[in-house]
Amino acid sequence: MHPLKQTAVDAYYHATRPYRALWMWQARAARKAPVMILFYHRVADDAANAWTCSTALFAQQMKWVRKRYDVVTLSEAQRRIRQGHDRPAVCITFDDGYADNNDFALPLLVRERMACTYFVTLHNALTGEPFPHDVKHGRPLRPNTIADLRRWADAGVEIGGHTRTHPDLGAIRDPDRLYDEVVVAGRELGELIDRPLRYFAAPFGLPQNLQPAVFEMAREAGYEGVCSAYGGYNRPGDDAFHLQRIHADDDFARFRNWLTVDPRKLNVPRYDYSAPSHELELLAAR
Ligand SMILES: [Zn+2]
Repeated sequence: MHPLKQTAVDAYYHATRPYRALWMWQARAARKAPVMILFYHRVADDAANAWTCSTALFAQQMKWVRKRYDVVTLSEAQRRIRQGHDRPAVCITFDDGYADNNDFALPLLVRERMACTYFVTLHNALTGEPFPHDVKHGRPLRPNTIADLRRWADAGVEIGGHTRTHPDLGAIRDPDRLYDEVVVAGRELGELIDRPLRYFAAPFGLPQNLQPAVFEMAREAGYEGVCSAYGGYNRPGDDAFHLQRIHADDDFARFRNWLTVDPRKLNVPRYDYSAPSHELELLAAR
């Protein structure tokens, strides 16, 4: 981050701190403490890019989180969203399945007994091919293998679905293709690691990368929740099936700002998957 921007983020954090503290105190008193779900991609010290977090920053973030929040599984998060809770919670998730996470991030989480859900794109885990977004940027990076995933699942990491080929799901008009990416790929991955997948995360995860049929197909297929990635907190009373996540591959000041409930982020509109659009044609066609 540019130093001037960094100073601005710090100043903003400190200026709004009393408001944040009051907000959190009131939320806790009302048993409406928020659930904040972080998503990472790759933790490593080489090939830095917008989806890589350094090992030092990751360790700093995890230490900070552990001290202040309950670090919970996605299913405990959903229980709190449905029933309310007086303590704020954080979930740790990862997308794509980068082999570099074998070396630092996943061992740290397992060692510290911090719950983690790890969303994997099946094609890359099966073939070893790099992810399209890295190829596009001229930095192909190694994906996890199925053997890695079995090992981490055995160590307590929850493996989730992140499609077969990492497409923009919002742009898919063929219902069979969409079903394959959301449901069939998840079933195949579940069979490969001997555990059915319970959660699904949409690639890119912005509102334009979603469509209502994704949520419908996921629910019908038995997934317990779908994760988006455009920011936003989850608060008791919200729809617990759709879990909103916050980007964490970033600098510490912004991370701290997000996790102490930035008032500007409280009103991020939730993606409405009940809205009719072309997805109804998709469902009708099935
Ligand atoms: Zn992804």
